[in-house]
Amino acid sequence: MPDSHTSSYADFYRRSIDDRDAFWTEQAALIDWQTPPQQICDYSQPPFARWFVGGTTNLCHNAVDRHVAARPDAPALIHVSSETGSERTYSFAELHREVQRMAAILLSLGVQKGDRVLVYMPMVAEAAFAMLACARIGAIHCVVFGGFAAGALASRIDDAEPRVVVSADAGMRGGKVVAYKPLLDEAIRLSQHQPESVLLVDRNLAPLPLVQGRDHLYAPLRRQYLDADVPCEWVDATHTSYTLYTSGTTGKPKGVQRDTGGYAVALAASMRHIFEARPGETYFSTSDIGWVVGHSYIVYGPLIAGMATLMYEGLPTRGMDGEPDPAVWWQLVEKYKVTRMFSAPTAVRVLKKYDVAHLRKHDLSSLKALYLAGEPLDEPTAQWISDGLGVPIIDNYWQTESGWPILTIANGVEKKPSKFGSPGVPMYGFDVQLVDEVTGLSMTEPNRKGVVVIEGPLPPGCMQTVWRDDQRFVDTYWRSIPGRLVYNTFDWGLRDQDGYFFILGRSDDVINVAGHRLGTREIEECISGHPQVAEVAVLGVADALKGQVAMAFAVLRDGRLAADPAARLRLEGEIMQRVDGQLGGVARPARVLFVALLPKTRSGKLLRRAMQAVCEGRDAGDLTTLDDPAALDQIRDALAAPKPTPAAG
Ligand code: ATP
Ligand code: MG
Repeated sequence: MPDSHTSSYADFYRRSIDDRDAFWTEQAALIDWQTPPQQICDYSQPPFARWFVGGTTNLCHNAVDRHVAARPDAPALIHVSSETGSERTYSFAELHREVQRMAAILLSLGVQKGDRVLVYMPMVAEAAFAMLACARIGAIHCVVFGGFAAGALASRIDDAEPRVVVSADAGMRGGKVVAYKPLLDEAIRLSQHQPESVLLVDRNLAPLPLVQGRDHLYAPLRRQYLDADVPCEWVDATHTSYTLYTSGTTGKPKGVQRDTGGYAVALAASMRHIFEARPGETYFSTSDIGWVVGHSYIVYGPLIAGMATLMYEGLPTRGMDGEPDPAVWWQLVEKYKVTRMFSAPTAVRVLKKYDVAHLRKHDLSSLKALYLAGEPLDEPTAQWISDGLGVPIIDNYWQTESGWPILTIANGVEKKPSKFGSPGVPMYGFDVQLVDEVTGLSMTEPNRKGVVVIEGPLPPGCMQTVWRDDQRFVDTYWRSIPGRLVYNTFDWGLRDQDGYFFILGRSDDVINVAGHRLGTREIEECISGHPQVAEVAVLGVADALKGQVAMAFAVLRDGRLAADPAARLRLEGEIMQRVDGQLGGVARPARVLFVALLPKTRSGKLLRRAMQAVCEGRDAGDLTTLDDPAALDQIRDALAAPKPTPAAG
């Protein structure tokens, strides 16, 4: 394939759209095929795209086996837990063995090609073995985030109908044992569908009572299959590799279904063009296997690229000895010579509460870039981490549905500067446009705000459909813009004169104040520029007079100020003035209230719909994805507190 470093990104991108099949034929050469594809893209039934039709391949082969021959002893999976203080590195040869043992166990439990295996696990190496083992035998994995409670798990069991569930006795968070088995038992009791078998990893953290005939311990089975040879099952490129739910920020989570060949090619290409992967180097994503970042950039992407992947259980602020240490990630970067790191703005905001000196305690000379995704990256946070680490901070915008970045900078194709506040430009294969949600017309002039949509076909790696619900796929994603069949991201954006996109919040986060449509994100950006504000959420609340008004909930840098009514009053005034000055009085929040933490999903996203419901005195709705219930109580308390009045005199 041509040396991509010599071409300009603009040309590279153009080709991906205008000469789609030729472009993806080249990218397909980045992975191993058992049978090469006969057709690159079948888009005869829009919006359903079938990539690399006729080709057969295997994700596990590309992630593991392929590298065993070339570098058997190179590190593949580095598992670190600051919760249990354990560290273990598996070479490609060792990973190959472990995955075959797991695959043999799954086969012995009756798992066949196309069967679902639900993985409900903490961040242990066995979770990665299970995912890779499923891919190896053509089973479909459905990873459910380990932080979910019984109700959320039960509904996913019913949707996925797994033959086998893989789980563990417990996870740990902040030094506390979180028992998984009782939650799993309760979930299976609640669900209609009954898995035939449950495979359990015993970490000796919590009691592990077994249900006779259904539950099996992993360790003795592993010993039984120590020398198992389980060849890769070559599957069609379009064979479903996994299902995974969206984060549930805006409503009922959607079951994203992903293929095999398109996903493998998309990841291999992104590792090269976006993450500039080099085999033998170490990649560290701080996400969780329960999220799409964990699937794409903890497990599959780095391994497909021949890199070692660091899988971390624990908080960013707890050291390997169990003592508080906000430099623990940087200690790992130094120790394992991490070159590429992937995290989320929310994690950086946690670190930002500590002295910046923690970022400089360890030797970070190996680190080449930090990629952040999942939510808007506000400028103060970006600036803080950029100054602190001294490496490029690369924002990237995508979704569970897309599987890999939609907007970012492809530095592996052409080095380009990032702009603060912008995740970047459309990635190759994504025909990203901005449309007027009322007329459905595309906006061509720069700096106009519209809904971010993608013209079909979606590139390789994106969702095939909603699991068992093609109609929901079409209706939800493709039929919401009048007169057009385009994929709706449900995010607002604008494109500047240089072609850089800015994400202005979710299209359902728009508030309507006295006939003016305002993105809550813009108001948040403005408020978070106040030097005292660490974090802020703005939402629209029903108002009899104006339709909606903006409400702001801010976390202060110095939490003590929030306890002082005079300081609260002064800050509220300052913030309102700031909004008046920058955005105009119409955007001014009706109130600015101060809380110690904001309600977020376990993946660090603001649960606006729940906050909004509480503000409007409604039921908060489905809270299974809420991380800390105390955060919603704080919203309630802040709303109930009497409005401070200026002290007399
Ligand atoms: P649900 O679709 O169930 O409501 P969700 O959209 O939060 O949940 P995800 O797929 O995890 O589920 O998140 C994708 C969304 O996260 C994007 O649509 C966008 O709103 C936001 N997002 C992701 N990356 C960025 C980014 N770099 N900048 C701004 N927003 C981002
Ligand atoms: Mg979404």
